[in-house]
Amino acid sequence: MLKKIEDQVNPEKVIEEVEAMTKDAGRVQKETLRKILEENSDAEYLLKHGLDGRTDPESFKSCVPLVTHKDLESYIQRIADGDTSQVLTGKPITTISLSSGTTQGKPKFVPFNDKLMDITMQIFQTSFAYRNREFPLGNGKALQFVYGSKQIWTEGGLAAGTATTNVFRHPRFKKHMKAIRSEWCSPDEVIFGPDFHQSLYCHLLCGLMYREEVQFVSSTFAHSIIHAFETFVQCWEELCANIRDGSLSSRITHTSLRSAMSKIIHPDPVKADLIHSKCSNLSNWYGLIPALFPNVKYILGIMTGSMLPYLKKLRHYAGELPLMSADYGASEGWIGVNVNPKLPPELATFAVLPDIGYFEFIPLNESIDDREQDGESDFLRIEPKPVGLTEVKVGEEYEILLTNFAGLYRYRLGDVVKVVGFHNSTPELQFICRRSLLLTVNIDKNTEKDLELSVEAAQRLLAVEKLELVDYTSHADLVSEPGHYVIFWEINGEASEEVLNECCNCLDRSFVDVGYVSSRKVKAIGPLELRVLKRGTFQKILDHYVTMGAAASQFKTPRCVGANNSQVLQILCSNVERKCFSTAFG
Ligand code: AMP
Repeated sequence: MLKKIEDQVNPEKVIEEVEAMTKDAGRVQKETLRKILEENSDAEYLLKHGLDGRTDPESFKSCVPLVTHKDLESYIQRIADGDTSQVLTGKPITTISLSSGTTQGKPKFVPFNDKLMDITMQIFQTSFAYRNREFPLGNGKALQFVYGSKQIWTEGGLAAGTATTNVFRHPRFKKHMKAIRSEWCSPDEVIFGPDFHQSLYCHLLCGLMYREEVQFVSSTFAHSIIHAFETFVQCWEELCANIRDGSLSSRITHTSLRSAMSKIIHPDPVKADLIHSKCSNLSNWYGLIPALFPNVKYILGIMTGSMLPYLKKLRHYAGELPLMSADYGASEGWIGVNVNPKLPPELATFAVLPDIGYFEFIPLNESIDDREQDGESDFLRIEPKPVGLTEVKVGEEYEILLTNFAGLYRYRLGDVVKVVGFHNSTPELQFICRRSLLLTVNIDKNTEKDLELSVEAAQRLLAVEKLELVDYTSHADLVSEPGHYVIFWEINGEASEEVLNECCNCLDRSFVDVGYVSSRKVKAIGPLELRVLKRGTFQKILDHYVTMGAAASQFKTPRCVGANNSQVLQILCSNVERKCFSTAFG
């Protein structure tokens, strides 16, 4: 559906097309599957499964199995090693995306191609069109806290980078961004700078230099926006000094950055004084973003899922500005667009675009029931019965299966979503959690969402004391006997012993899963442990991932750190300041 990019995208036209397509979602899905299977009919993978050139949904579903990334690893590795035969796709794959790895511990290789690039731009255009209808942008720039990761080359000579990096580096990317009024303030050297901290400082400086032109502030995941303004709070006087005399802080050491920034920065004492006075007049930095950028219309970024806990802080910096939750996708492909941008992030939904892939949904209730009947403990070992895009039911939760234009067929993305309504005949999804993030010691099963709810409840006790939870994660300690949950908190401020004990008990009590509660009662699971971390520990975790090659743009704090993620666990354990155990179950 992507139109040839003109100088400006016509939002009404884009909306018209999306409305027409989503009214006919069932037919468009069939047509999309036909296209995918036709283009790739000679791919070894599809031939091996006996599809034999057939392109109808029934043959596809009966021949091709549901897979996880692990099942495809050997095929993707062959491609990365330089096999140019039709392994997964008709046309050879020339680029690899590295998933952020922040949810699983290590990055995964997934195929990327021009079709995925086109779809990315289609998503950006669509999302822009719906947003612009409610909150029109003027001419100007976007302050985007985005960071490219290092591009590496695989054994077979394929370029490999995070999905966002592959998109940012694409030759057509900039023209697309201009057409949707999302041109960024910072030069490429800043985006692709070799040091994340230096790039962040330069992003801030560029934003301030163009402060009147900035139309919106964004990042891929909202965490990067908060991180950016927390950094601003630390170094705002240095930034003002740079603007006042047109110099660049000595903390910027890379010549590429220094030379690119020298073209932007020039002495502007009036601007420096204005920023200084605006900052000095703020109360506890409330409303910092609109104070710095007078023409900003909204804040944009993924704010759902694991980003929800940061909303309070984001709202503090955003003041009265609207927060707009960005779209839903993964390195493996896009899923849906936020077509109701006026909804607050807590209620954000994503309408699935039926022409960007073929989607199936594994009903979650069904597989949980099956599991109980079979006494099965591993979700992935049950053969589930997926339903099609237009067959899903409102109110039900599902795991998403993706078939895309880059060689993934019936691929278990690992995300749990809830259908909350329909946009015409395509479902609107709410992101619930990663399916694999489970805290489990005994017969208990708590997901990322359960943890989020429990932390949310306990956090209210902190808020009463005017203390702020900076970030959190968890670990199931199976070494101690009996095993128990460990929750790691980084707190802004000094919590009393009494408050910590209350929080710890509240965390323990708020896991309402029957398996957990019954195990706690009979002491098959030990008392929950709350460990308070030194300030800056989560920054160390982000730095760790960036050093390992992840892009800061795609960073998501892992909400559960398993024993196999030993380096992160080590960072956490070596930064514990205080700890306490729950007395909630006696
Ligand atoms: P990555 O590993 O960087 O490709 O991250 C992709 C994952 O990020 C998805 O599978 C989701 O778990 C999460 N994600 C992406 N978009 C959203 C969103 N809009 N809301 C919540 N989580 C999201």
